[in-house]
Amino acid sequence: MKIICIGRNYANHAKELNNPLPEQPVFFLKPESALIQKNKPFFLPDFSKEIHHEVELVVKINRLGKHIQEEFAHRYYDEIGIGIDFTARDIQDQCKKMGLPWEIAKAFDGSAPLGEFVSKEELGPLDNLHFDLKVNGQSRQVGSTRDMIFSIDAIIAYVSRFMTLKIGDLIYTGTPEGVAPVQIGDHLEAAIAGRKLLDFHVK
Ligand code: MG
Repeated sequence: MKIICIGRNYANHAKELNNPLPEQPVFFLKPESALIQKNKPFFLPDFSKEIHHEVELVVKINRLGKHIQEEFAHRYYDEIGIGIDFTARDIQDQCKKMGLPWEIAKAFDGSAPLGEFVSKEELGPLDNLHFDLKVNGQSRQVGSTRDMIFSIDAIIAYVSRFMTLKIGDLIYTGTPEGVAPVQIGDHLEAAIAGRKLLDFHVK
C-alpha cells in the first residue's frame, strides 16, 4: 500500500506558501508507517519546531490500474475520506532551498492521520464537496473540491501514468489555505459536508 500526496492543488494555499501554480499535478509519497487511524493521537516529533496541519480529502483506490484515462478514473474509487498531511514546514523550507527531496519533512511516522471513509454515493456530486478542519473548536481550514486545480479524476489519470495504482492505495488530494502549526494539547476535528470523520489530539 502506498500513500500518494498531491501538493499545491489549491491556488490560495500555493499563494500562502509563495509557490507558483503548477501546470501538472505535483505529487510525493508517504510510507505506510505514516498512517494514524482510529483517532489515535499524533505525537509531535522532536526534529521540527513547526509541524503544520494540512487537511485533505483522501481517495481510496479500489481497483488495480495503470494509464487510467481521466474519463474512466471515477471507476477506480468509491469512497472518500479525510486526513491530515502533517508537514515539518521548517524542514521542508530547508529542503526546498537546497533543492532536496521532501521526505524528512513529509513522510515521517504519524504524518498521515486518516479518518473514516464515506461512499461517494452518499456524498453526492464530487465537484463541490465541502470539507473543513477545526482546531480546539475553531475553524482553521475550509475547502471545496470546486477550488481544486486538478480534479480527483485528473489526479488519478496523471499519477497512473507513472505508477500502478493498487487496491487500498490512498491519495491525499491537496490542502486549501489556512495551514498553521500545531501544539501539544491541540484537538483536531475534520469533517466532510459537516460530517465529522476524524477527531484526535496532538501529544
Ligand atoms: Mg498537503
